[in-house]
Amino acid sequence: MKKILTVALAGVLAASMMFTGCSKKEEAKSEGEIPKTIVVGTNAEFPPFEYVNDDKEIDGFDMAVMKEIGKRLDCKVKIKNMEFKSLIGAMESKNLDVIAAGMTVTDERKEAVDFTDSYYTSNQYIIVKEDSKVKKISDLDGKTIAVQEGTTGDLVATGDYDSVKDAKVKRFKKGVDAVMDLKKGGSDAVIIDANPAQEFVKANEGLRLIKDQSSKEYYAFAIQKGNKKLQKAINKELEAMKKDGTFDKLIKKYI
Ligand code: GLN
Repeated sequence: MKKILTVALAGVLAASMMFTGCSKKEEAKSEGEIPKTIVVGTNAEFPPFEYVNDDKEIDGFDMAVMKEIGKRLDCKVKIKNMEFKSLIGAMESKNLDVIAAGMTVTDERKEAVDFTDSYYTSNQYIIVKEDSKVKKISDLDGKTIAVQEGTTGDLVATGDYDSVKDAKVKRFKKGVDAVMDLKKGGSDAVIIDANPAQEFVKANEGLRLIKDQSSKEYYAFAIQKGNKKLQKAINKELEAMKKDGTFDKLIKKYI
């Protein structure tokens, strides 16, 4: 009897150990982790959110925010510069912990990555030559539109939001190359996010902006699917930065 009891007890003990061990492991897996070095992917072609500065460093609002978050979490931040359209794939293959690239939250992207709280609201603007007859987005139907590949501007030009119909879309790796194509007459317009659009028009003569305020979109940092720990930590620090004025200071400095 004693023996049977001992065996039974041992069995219960083993089962409960297995259970806690297993559930702990699962919990750890589903919660994700905050890495000691946060690898941040970006595309440094999107001023003022990310660009290469005069000292050849990757700079900009997103970079400054991520560096500050890294400091507050006591983590190193390593920046990887790549094509915009490669960012999500690099995150899916676990080569990035965070994407900080003025990335708009979209339903399609949400299938591949998770997002933090949004930190900036933007719109798509249209850039045309000063003498262009284009006045509003519907004037772009059937025209040739230059965009940065894989961006929401690309989706608008392609007609995904029922905004533009039957346009010929020319896709470039960099927004600035789309603008150069417009300047040399290769396309009728560029569709790109409001802030870089303003920067590109400022930096180039003979261009005009059409501000379409209807296309509101929200920027957020992307993180690997299921990394709740990092998501929560970034959200917490974003909120703290907003409360203590750091966020506004960076907005003033960069935007
Ligand atoms: N906000 C746009 C998007 O997410 C463009 C971002 C970018 O070009 N860096 O598609």
